Amino acid sequence: MKLKQFLTDHREKMQLIYGIFLIVLIPLLIAYNAITIIGRYNDNMDTTLQRETLSEGRSIYAFLQDYLDDTDMIQRKIEDLQDKNSAFEGIEVLMPEDGGYKIVASSEKDNIGKISKFYFYDIAWKQPDKDGLTTDSLKLSMDTDTEMTQATDAEERVWIVAMPMRDRNDTLKAILSVKVSSKIIDDLTSESQRESFIVLIITIIITIFFLLVTVKIWDYVLLYDKIKELDQLKDEFISIASHELRTPLTAIKGYTSIILEGTFGPITDKNMKQSLERVMSSSKKLEDLVEDLLNVSRLEQGRLTVEMTDLQLEPAIEEVVAQLSVTADEKNLKLTFEKPDQPLPLISADKDRLGQVLVNLIGNSIKYTEKGSVTVSTEVKDDEMRIKVNDTGIGISPEAQKRLFQKFYRVQTEKTEKIHGTGLGLWITKQIVELMNGHIYVDSIEGQGTQFMVTLKLSTMKKA
Ligand code: ADP
Repeated sequence: MKLKQFLTDHREKMQLIYGIFLIVLIPLLIAYNAITIIGRYNDNMDTTLQRETLSEGRSIYAFLQDYLDDTDMIQRKIEDLQDKNSAFEGIEVLMPEDGGYKIVASSEKDNIGKISKFYFYDIAWKQPDKDGLTTDSLKLSMDTDTEMTQATDAEERVWIVAMPMRDRNDTLKAILSVKVSSKIIDDLTSESQRESFIVLIITIIITIFFLLVTVKIWDYVLLYDKIKELDQLKDEFISIASHELRTPLTAIKGYTSIILEGTFGPITDKNMKQSLERVMSSSKKLEDLVEDLLNVSRLEQGRLTVEMTDLQLEPAIEEVVAQLSVTADEKNLKLTFEKPDQPLPLISADKDRLGQVLVNLIGNSIKYTEKGSVTVSTEVKDDEMRIKVNDTGIGISPEAQKRLFQKFYRVQTEKTEKIHGTGLGLWITKQIVELMNGHIYVDSIEGQGTQFMVTLKLSTMKKA
């Protein structure tokens, strides 16, 4: 719960962190993926090349073994091999001399006669026949301060095989050194790296675009918050304004009523009396409007609470029917409550709010019925109480029925245009009914009448 609260409070910051996290993480993952794949690919190719070099070395060894006493012949054979295979970076045969190894034949003629003290040859000299040693120039360059001119003068990376050579009498005679360029592999690798780099750049650009769009979404989030804030301000304004209106209205109504009652002397003038009565009825309408607005703002701010108790429905209906019978009588409407013979089970509801719901529904029926009757009835169904308000009024079209419970919605017809109202009553009624865990339904035929039905839960106490 605390985490949820924290996330709600710091929503914008969290979204920003989340966005940045994604933007850093996605390219990093892509880069990591590309680098590992290229690395693995490179390693595989390298191993293959290393094996290849070694087996090339063995073949050359077999090819030269018979001529170990004739260095000129070896030189010719080497030149032959070099001509046929361009992958060889260099082939040399060296023989021990002066504490080093003298190059007796070489694909680089200039090297002939030179003495090499390359430590790698020393190790190779001690290797079993044909086993040879392989290493690459990169590895050699990382090793100690050995003489490496022989191995690393090539610009590119090379694989070096050094193999001890024995003649047919099994006498250790020379060392064969074969260098194979790893240029093809290195070129391929660097090409893959280049391509991956381009893909990476594109991904980063796309991600940045994504960020920009997301920032726009954040703008909307901020806008939404602002609108919500404004909406709250509006609610507060309505609430304050309605409260402020109530006081002067009470004064107007109070004084008008006192005057009408004749407290300050009898009202003899008929016109004056009529005018005062109009002031009175307009004040009542205004009071209703203020009350509706107050209820709307309470509901919207979640300040309207219900106090659920187990109560008897019949007296609640009787009270409202008695209260509204004056208005019904004025319109010559028959307002009745079809009270069941047996006492009804208790219902779970808020007494005052239930009264408000009944006043709204029965009041509307009287308001929108020209002649005939308004009937209130009840029915118990399963664990529910159904309260029905039927009238023989103007009715509501199917299209209007769909929008009936929306805030400020009023049916616009010839018959309704002279009837005053705010379009708030049914919205408020629905909200209150739902707060009391109930539902409201409407059924109507235009020109014939309407039935509003409210369902409320029966008291669990009664059931137990
Ligand atoms: P108001 O009565 O202030 O206009 P309500 O929210 O109470 O607002 O009702 C919304 C609309 O529903 C009314 O304008 C009216 O057209 C219609 N309506 C409500 N009750 C009835 C009814 N019993 N018969 C016909 N129309 C009704």
